[in-house]
Amino acid sequence: MPTTSSDSAIKSRPPRIASGELTGSVVSPGFADSDRSRLQRSRIFGAKMGPMGVRTATVTTVGLGAAGWTGLEYGLHRFAMHELRGRGLASVEHLKHHADVTYFSPASKKAASAVATTAIVLPVAAAIAGRRRACEFTAGLIGMYYAYEVAHRRTHTHAPRARYSRWTRRNHMHHHFGAPMRNFGVTTPIWDRLFGSYDDPGVVSVPRRMAPTWLLDESGAVRSELAADYVVKAGRARDTSQAELDRLDAFANLAPEF
Ligand SMILES: [Zn+2]
Ligand SMILES: [Zn+2]
Repeated sequence: MPTTSSDSAIKSRPPRIASGELTGSVVSPGFADSDRSRLQRSRIFGAKMGPMGVRTATVTTVGLGAAGWTGLEYGLHRFAMHELRGRGLASVEHLKHHADVTYFSPASKKAASAVATTAIVLPVAAAIAGRRRACEFTAGLIGMYYAYEVAHRRTHTHAPRARYSRWTRRNHMHHHFGAPMRNFGVTTPIWDRLFGSYDDPGVVSVPRRMAPTWLLDESGAVRSELAADYVVKAGRARDTSQAELDRLDAFANLAPEF
């Protein structure tokens, strides 16, 4: 029997199969491909949506990166900067900061170290956990590195305003002026406590020639609201020969003389 034009149209029409049947999933036919793949990924990773639609797994991985930085902050400060006593660029730059607390490594060197850290951490993390988690982890790590840089600079340039900033300043001033081989953590005491290098800062003694400006009032005395935390001791003047002695002490990991 000859086929009609309507018969051939029916034969050539693709079968009406719901997309859920094609994939064997329960996704409704109205779902766009991107919706479907997102749902499938969330099933694979068991991800839950948190506030603002951010996945809990993403927040966790970024948080792990930030926590990872605090460990690096401790390890690099202790071993690559102090233990090496001036061997290597990082150690030289940091001990120059101890010799002269107004000296900070230029931003270009800090940016270069962030790039170098990324170049090492990202491929290693990708090999372990895949590219997406590696990017999240590295973002947390580098983000916390930036936060550390800001926090460290502010311990030297800005007065404390709350309990945490009061602790970061006492903790870091004790590291500078009391015991350079103690209290390596700047943002957290966790690693110092874990590895037995934490001192309770107590009342911190500061050489007058090195006192941060936020510590003193117009007459040069310790500001009344900080008097319970610091004592400023007058002594050696800041001149060329003292600067050389301060440099020698810093590169030997000794506290500056008063
Ligand atoms: Zn410092
Ligand atoms: Zn240091």
